Amino acid sequence: MNAAAKGTVIEDYKLEELLRCPYRYAKRQEAAPSAKAEVNWMQLAQLAVSYVVNAFYTTPAEERSRFSIPEMLERWWTNKVSKFESPEHYWSVKQQLIDGLSSLFVTEMSAVPIILFEQHQTVVPELQAELVQIFQLVLNDNDGEPADYIVRKYIVDEDEDMILLFQHLTAVFCSSAFGRLPSRIEVFPVLGGKSRIVHPTAETLRQSMDYMNLAAGFMPEADSGRGPLRKAAGSAECRRCPFIEECAKPPEAAEALLM
Ligand code: SF4
Repeated sequence: MNAAAKGTVIEDYKLEELLRCPYRYAKRQEAAPSAKAEVNWMQLAQLAVSYVVNAFYTTPAEERSRFSIPEMLERWWTNKVSKFESPEHYWSVKQQLIDGLSSLFVTEMSAVPIILFEQHQTVVPELQAELVQIFQLVLNDNDGEPADYIVRKYIVDEDEDMILLFQHLTAVFCSSAFGRLPSRIEVFPVLGGKSRIVHPTAETLRQSMDYMNLAAGFMPEADSGRGPLRKAAGSAECRRCPFIEECAKPPEAAEALLM
């Protein structure tokens, strides 16, 4: 019986962690609290970005022209230089975030959020699961009909698999919870990549449901019976993982690999 059939609660951040690397997900479940709290530079940068986005959109529109991104980022910027690839990398990421947020916010001076950093939940009968999702930002779509809305996320880590997960999860969640698909699902990479914008439809919703069904079935312990799946050695995920030394010396038994 898969996770969905058991009426599982699927939380977005846990599913993301699981899909990033099932082996690491399983290791973290059994790890001490200090190891569970282990974070990499992208997570630290994402946290700072989230605080700045929240501060920007809670600032009244008439005061946003005076909003200082460097000042606000400074408030939330980490001092854990050792988490970055080098001190130069630490400073360069900080400057890139300031530049990226500045250009992304320039068109947002009067945008009023409908939802800002809120957790929502909904039961999806087709998945026999309850989904829990944290929304960074939901906005009215001023180019569409009055009920049209946009779901947006500002990201640091441009992992394509995680972007796909967000797009599918958001479509399924919104259809179930709000009874209407968003007119756009937008992902804005703050470190300078290209924006990903999709326009969900009834047809793409079916694909999203299939995707979520597969993901939900993957949820329980992510155990293939031969041990949890690992990422292929040398992947970007591995390079910033606290378990990399352990994974560099795998047990003798062959283990499944996740590309
Ligand atoms: S080093 Fe790679 S395979 Fe090992 S736990 Fe980390 S991400 Fe997974």
